[in-house]
Amino acid sequence: MFIGHIPAGYLTAKALQRKARERGISSTHFIFAGVAGAIAPDIDLLYFYLLDGRAHHHHTYATHFPVVWASAFLACAMWWLTGKARQWALLAGIFALGGFGHMLLDSVVGDIAWGAPWDMRLFSLFEVRAAYRPWWLNFILNWSFALEILLTAAAVIVWRRRPHRLSPRAWHKPVRWSARIPDNSWRSQ
Ligand SMILES: [Zn+2]
Repeated sequence: MFIGHIPAGYLTAKALQRKARERGISSTHFIFAGVAGAIAPDIDLLYFYLLDGRAHHHHTYATHFPVVWASAFLACAMWWLTGKARQWALLAGIFALGGFGHMLLDSVVGDIAWGAPWDMRLFSLFEVRAAYRPWWLNFILNWSFALEILLTAAAVIVWRRRPHRLSPRAWHKPVRWSARIPDNSWRSQ
């Protein structure tokens, strides 16, 4: 998947944003954490190109193991249950959820080892045949790219319906420790 991860992370965070805001988390940070999590697994491309010399498919690195993201999400859930710094647990949780969503989207045509690290067989719902060069044209000209366009269009629609202003002021206030924040708080920022 090429362009679909960012809108998917955005849509996931937007869907849960109200719940987070009710618990005193700034929307700016919550959405940023969701989008960052959605693209985080592909940070392994740096290792792939710079250190590994493109020796292995980057989906065989731990950053693309579903168990890593599922465990991270479970750890956040347990953190939440401890009752300590719950807002940070939610921020970490949306990051982990974004990473797990990345695994699902990469499984459409991208090969993910769902049994990793114990079973490294790669799985994808559909296969993309190598018919064009360069390699990425095969993915862009495949029907599955419509899914990426759909995700992007949905994110743009959500953004336009209720734009989220990324307030510089909000960066200094990741978490408000007091109780509820009104739903229209973004308007005043
Ligand atoms: Zn990926």
